Order: sequence, then structure tokens, then C-alpha cells
Amino acid sequence: MIVILGTGIVGLFSALKLLKNGKKVKLIDIFEVKGKATNASVGMLAPLIEAKPYERELFDLMLDSKEIWDKFLKKKEFITQTKLKKNASLLVANNKDDEERIIFKRRFFKQLGFETQLLDSKTTLEIEPNLNSNIYCSLLCEKHNQVEPLPLIKYLFEQIKKMGGEVEKFNKIENFSFSKGKLRIQDSYYEAEKIVIACGVWSSKLLEKSIGITFPTRPIKGISMLFKTNKKLFSNNIWFRNIYLAPRDFNFLAVGATEDEKGFDNSVTLDEIHYITKSLWEHLPEIEKLKFQDIFSGLRSGVIDGSPIIGNLKNNKNIICAFGHFRHGILLAPVTAEIVYNYVCGSEIKKNYDFFSPDRFNL
Ligand SMILES: Cc1cc2nc3c(=O)[nH]c(=O)nc-3n(C[C@H](O)[C@H](O)[C@H](O)COP(=O)(O)OP(=O)(O)OC[C@H]3O[C@@H](n4cnc5c(N)ncnc54)[C@H](O)[C@@H]3O)c2cc1C
Repeated sequence: MIVILGTGIVGLFSALKLLKNGKKVKLIDIFEVKGKATNASVGMLAPLIEAKPYERELFDLMLDSKEIWDKFLKKKEFITQTKLKKNASLLVANNKDDEERIIFKRRFFKQLGFETQLLDSKTTLEIEPNLNSNIYCSLLCEKHNQVEPLPLIKYLFEQIKKMGGEVEKFNKIENFSFSKGKLRIQDSYYEAEKIVIACGVWSSKLLEKSIGITFPTRPIKGISMLFKTNKKLFSNNIWFRNIYLAPRDFNFLAVGATEDEKGFDNSVTLDEIHYITKSLWEHLPEIEKLKFQDIFSGLRSGVIDGSPIIGNLKNNKNIICAFGHFRHGILLAPVTAEIVYNYVCGSEIKKNYDFFSPDRFNL
């Protein structure tokens, strides 16, 4: 049996991949962890917009995962259950400064091999008439999809249960011991071939207390908000300099996101509400028409070099890490699951994926 610790998006996708390939899987989590990143996420699947000039390996990983997401677009049930949407991203420039930034990004995207369209103000407003009329221009990035994290989690849990996956929850798990195929968590014992650590930002603490290894990760808090409007405002995912909007079914609009370093505190503070609402006020007309629905707070798992940690430990090859996905965990979950599967089965790991191995920290 393979035991996966953590039922965020990474644990769930990994479980499903293993089950589909005939492995027996048990997922273990704890009740009421505060700040699970997956639940707060907006669900953008936008590799190009997340690309950074110095992160080529990460960008390639995002593209590989996007390819898997694109295959899901052919599955009708997946689309209806998870609200996976095929849309584009529109980067909007509100002033000259933004325009320069967009033009620079366009050049960078071209270097990466991707063509985007620079649209003048008139054309932008034809596509998105509910933007401010004084916008400068925009950049249209095609095929940047979006998924709704909460229905996605529900769907994945259902599939896992259907395929015989087990889920168990503890009140608290501070550490585990795992040796010679025997896993102990508190007073429970399991026979486990391998274990996968998919506890997001809590993974490092758990490994430190269990086997004395500390990875250079830290929590980066993010707040997102959900609004409802009387009519559909946007057709594309809209990106401004500091916030982004994801139009959802039934006139819902998800807005993300803040980025703050406040340790493991996931409470929502006034400055975070102010940051998002002030940005909306600056960028959109008639914000009085946005009816507040919900607010979410999640702790992203940031790694010192910006890349996730995926692979087995040098000193215990049966412990597989799958955490540190920072801003990209929803996008990267499917490819992470494939890599986890390869480590579990001892199959060959694609050369570029070595880059993400825990070995890079020499722990
Ligand atoms: C506001 C916000 C917006 C975001 N938007 C996007 C986006 O648009 N697109 C995108 O790709 N990504 C986005 N992200 C990032 C994405 O949400 C994360 O990278 C991703 O959810 C990480 O998933 P995970 O499974 O690794 O961790 P989590 O979702 O945090 O799950 C970790 C799991 O581990 C469990 N756990 C904790 N401790 C233990 C323990 N001791 N034992 C067992 N289980 C334990 C927790 O209960 C939890 O279930 C966003 C994040 C935030 C906060």
C-alpha cells in the first residue's frame, strides 16, 4: 500500500494517479488545519503569466502540466464536475507604465516561443466592455484555462473513493516513524511500501519532527475573495498589475490574491481586505455592483529557490516529497502526480524533473 499524507490538490491528484495504475492507496490528513492552500486558491492555469525569466525549468514543468489539463478538456464529466473552463487571459494596462510592462512581457513570451496579441484600447473594450473605458491596451494570451478548486476537490475525493482509495483523519499528526515497510502514526500502524509527503507548507515541519530533515520552505499567505454580480461581467480571465479576476458560472467572480509573509497565521486582516477591494476600486467601474460572497485565506508553500520539491529522499528512497508548489499548485498538481507515480514505481524519471528533486538541498 502507498500512504499519502495530505489531501490538498497534490495529495488528491497523486492518489488518483496511483489508483488508476493499480496501486492500493490510503490518504491520511488531519481535521481542521487552518489555511489549506487549495481551498483558498483561484484555480488559474496560466503558465505563461506565471513564467519568470530565470525559472525555465519551472516554466517547462508548468507547460507539461498544462498539457495534462488540456487533455481533461476532452472529458465531459470532468468539465461539468470541476467547472474546468477553456478561456484566455487578458493582461490589462491602465496607464503608460503598465503598457511598458505588457510590451516587455510580450517580448519575453515570444522568446519563450509563444505569440500573444497586443490589443488597443478599442479592441480590448469590444472584447471586455465592462472594463474601465480609459484603459490603455491589453495583451491577449490564448488558451489559459481555469478550474474551480472546491468542486475539483469534491470530484477528486469522489473518484478516489470510487476506485477504492481510503481516507483517514487524525486530530493531530506531529510526526511519524517509517522503517522497513512499517509506518506508525500516533497509535496506528500501517504496512506501507512507500509514503508520499504532500502536506503543503506543513511538510517541512512534519519531516523535521519525524526524521530530522528541514527543507528551506516558508508559508506565504494569500487571500482571495468571491463576488457575485447581476450579469456576467467578463469572458476572459483578467489580470491587472496586482490582482486577477476569474469569471465563474452563475455570475460569480473570484478575485486574487494577496501575498504576505506572516508565518503560519492565516487570519484575515483589514489591510488584506483593503488591498483587494482598493485594487478593484482602482481597476473596475461600478464596483458597487459586486456583491461580496466569501473570503478565503491560504498558506502557500514557498521554497527558497522558487521551485517545488518532488522526489524521494536520498537516505530513505521510500519517502517521496511532493510539496513547495507556491503559486502554482493547482496548475502543477497533475504533472506532480505523474512524477510521484514514477518514483513510487521506480520508473525512469524524465531528465528535466531531476531539477526538482529534494537532493538539490544536500540534506
Ligand atoms: C489565495 C491563493 C490563490 C492561489 N491561486 C492559484 C491559482 O490560481 N493557480 C494555481 O495553480 N495555484 C494557486 N495557488 C497555489 C495553490 O493553491 C497551492 O500551490 C496548492 O493548493 C498547494 O496544494 P498542496 O496540496 O500542496 O497543499 P494544501 O492545499 O495546503 O494541502 C496540504 C494538506 O496537508 C494536510 N496536512 C497538514 N499537516 C498535516 C500533517 N501533519 N499530517 C497529514 N496531513 C497534513 C492539510 O490538512 C492539507 O489537507 C493559490 C494559493 C492561494 C493561497
